[in-house]
Amino acid sequence: MSRFKNHITPELIEGRKSALVERGKAHRVLQAVACERRLGRAVGLDVTKARESAATGALWASVASESNEGISYVVEMDAPRDGRIRSFSCSCRDHRDRGVVCKHMLAVSVRFCDQKLIEYKLLTDVEKMFGF
Ligand SMILES: [Zn+2]
Repeated sequence: MSRFKNHITPELIEGRKSALVERGKAHRVLQAVACERRLGRAVGLDVTKARESAATGALWASVASESNEGISYVVEMDAPRDGRIRSFSCSCRDHRDRGVVCKHMLAVSVRFCDQKLIEYKLLTDVEKMFGF
């Protein structure tokens, strides 16, 4: 069994693709509730570190402050469930004091969607290559 664990199978690809679709939907819901202006400002922010749980889709990331050089904010998002990210936090004042979906969270969310779109396309290519 263990010697086959790294083999690419149609089930493995299908599972990964559906996980990506579910997580992508949850991030789009998060982005939809944010105001347009904040979403625009999020795109230019630098996500310096990010970790995703492959099993659950929970995210931890560090985002550089725009106004304070050398300062980073920590963004955490729980595993998406039922098409939503139910719990998220950022260490910035905007989120802590006002409870808004801040630009740092949006930066992480937008980056996540961009990267996962690339991964999804790669998986589709692999499917075609192996004729799954
Ligand atoms: Zn923030």
